[in-house]
Amino acid sequence: MLGYHARRMSDNFPQPASPATAAPPRYPSVISNSATIHCSRCGYDLTGSTVGGVCPECGTPVSRSLDPAVGGKTSGYAVASLVLGILSIVGCMVYGLPSMVCGPLAIYFSVLGKRQVRRHEAGGSSQGLAQAGFVLGLIGTIIAALCVLLILMFILVPFLIMIVTSP
Ligand SMILES: [Zn+2]
Repeated sequence: MLGYHARRMSDNFPQPASPATAAPPRYPSVISNSATIHCSRCGYDLTGSTVGGVCPECGTPVSRSLDPAVGGKTSGYAVASLVLGILSIVGCMVYGLPSMVCGPLAIYFSVLGKRQVRRHEAGGSSQGLAQAGFVLGLIGTIIAALCVLLILMFILVPFLIMIVTSP
């Protein structure tokens, strides 16, 4: 009865094809004996593991062991995030105005970089770069906002005093 019901449910509501199954697989979904692949992190024999799964020994995604180039690949977004983050801190010394642009951009690229790591399009080392870019970008943005506030005060306060004291 339950099986019948479940079949009926799946007939009426077909599961949308996930992107992973829709795209042509780059590797067989289950690792066969012929292609002996070992975990890139702990060396565990991944025969019988599914490509979308993780190493049963250490939890590293199997896809990373299949493609060492991806595991070692650095996310361009993460690097851009770090560079912009540093620029946003340096930019604070120029009235904070460059930081108004570089800081938010660093945060934006940090999010993109972390997403690449999550999707295994880039290695785990990019996570640290993106995180550093995020923190620097955030600090840069906050300091820039304070700088702009200070500048506005220095312009506005004398102006207001002038208006109030003028006859
Ligand atoms: Zn492992």
